[in-house]
Amino acid sequence: MSLLERAPDLAAANEILHRVFGYEQFRGKQAEVISAVLAGRDVLAVLPTGGGKSLCYQIPALLRPGFGLVISPLIALMSDQVNALLARGVKAAKLDSTQDLNQRGDIWDAARTGELDLLYLSPEALASPFVRDKLSRLPVNLVAIDEAHCISQWGHDFRPEYRALGQVKALFPDVPAMALTATADHVTRADICAALHLDNPVEVVAGFDRPNLSLRFVRRKGAVLKEISALLQRQKGASGIIYCGSRDGTEKLARALTLEGFSATAYHAGLSATIREDRLKAFMTGKAKIMVATIAFGMGINKADVRFVIHADPPSSMEAYWQEVGRAGRDGLPASGVCFYAPGDLGWAVRRLTLRENEGAAEQSVQKQKARDFFATVLGPDCRRQAVKRYFGEEAGGTCGSCDNCLSRGRLTDVTEPAQMLMSALYRLNGPRGRKKLVEHVLGKTDKPDYTTRIKTFGIAKGQYDAALLTHVLDQCEAAGVIAEELYDGKMPIVALRDSDLLKQLFKGDLKLAAKI
Ligand code: ADP
Ligand code: ZN
Repeated sequence: MSLLERAPDLAAANEILHRVFGYEQFRGKQAEVISAVLAGRDVLAVLPTGGGKSLCYQIPALLRPGFGLVISPLIALMSDQVNALLARGVKAAKLDSTQDLNQRGDIWDAARTGELDLLYLSPEALASPFVRDKLSRLPVNLVAIDEAHCISQWGHDFRPEYRALGQVKALFPDVPAMALTATADHVTRADICAALHLDNPVEVVAGFDRPNLSLRFVRRKGAVLKEISALLQRQKGASGIIYCGSRDGTEKLARALTLEGFSATAYHAGLSATIREDRLKAFMTGKAKIMVATIAFGMGINKADVRFVIHADPPSSMEAYWQEVGRAGRDGLPASGVCFYAPGDLGWAVRRLTLRENEGAAEQSVQKQKARDFFATVLGPDCRRQAVKRYFGEEAGGTCGSCDNCLSRGRLTDVTEPAQMLMSALYRLNGPRGRKKLVEHVLGKTDKPDYTTRIKTFGIAKGQYDAALLTHVLDQCEAAGVIAEELYDGKMPIVALRDSDLLKQLFKGDLKLAAKI
């Protein structure tokens, strides 16, 4: 009998969905993933945050004899899932370093005697030869690897401890292996499949469309606290997450917001486990409305009524952005994502990537490109939702009508001429410049004459364009890849010419730039 004939079909999966989980029907591409697993195939599933990845392995594990092995990176998440499953009468357990020998012994016994449906394990635990040896003699019916993008160096959150997972296929050659993630671009997807040695996997990539999310990017003008607090005033009492680039930043912002009467708390990897747990609990139960956090907060946070995600500092890749913003509005009700940025932020992001240790040059250059691509979207004039979909290789479809670019009253206007003026100036100045200086140069503003005031481009835009427009045009030059943001001396944001081919095209008029004005 072939695997397929023996496989319990989707009707049985539906029955479990109703009886055990109490849901009416499968959501999105859950049924597609489950069918593939039930047919014995390896699967790579890219489903958006909140898309219901867990059921994709939980249901097949319940349908097949033996138990499903789930590898998940965070112990806290595993506990949540295990408790939720136990409450539904599913025999689930997790194996981790906090348990004593007796507890572990009980779990191994249950696994051996068929008293277990799902076993959760950390990637580190699977690296242990003892654990691997035990598991190899037990009836594992599938292996699911959650947050699978962590195995890829091309992903946005590579974790060395995930490398051990390259062996799962060899350990359990006869059962389906599943890799699940919320965000992975093309390269990352291929890399996940290769790193896990998936056997001719079925790839299921679900819609990145989240129609209930309205997306907005705001150029920071003054202190970000003021702008954030103005935003929050309009939705007092709503639950939300604010992401900051630094640990220190989270504490400061949480304190400032608290002083202004908001219910906010901070979360980052520098806090003790107890404090983190307390604060997470306060947020999950609604005691604290606003979580001000670094990216340490989030993986798998399953709070349905998060109404907004604010980035006080921008993330440095589209994957990270989408994963973080995706934590808003999981209940399907309207929610917003507001990302603050300043042009210099890209320079900082690139610099942070350069300082990252344990990373090869190839990996760094991939991450830097991701940062540049993301900033191109931030600065560009296109519909945000379309930009996200395009990035993840999905048919872009119509404009969303609800993002800042769709709602902007500005008209898409050709700005090739002012762009040529600025680029010509940058070229003649023969070296990178601060944005403000460059704009002042083409406007002919100066305190004291020097060699730059004798260059032909000095004052070239005077009387034709104003500083605000020129600054905006510089953004478009950056979005198009003609110039790049850098840090001079490691601290001063500047722009430099980046691509001489694009520059030539711009001068010839073959590359046209447009901006919403
Ligand atoms: P993620 O893909 O982010 O890991 P989860 O598996 O945590 O998502 O599921 C998100 C939420 O959606 C959970 O509360 C889950 O119980 C719920 N859910 C999953 N599948 C369905 C479904 N078919 N119908 C209704 N709710 C579902
Ligand atoms: Zn839009």
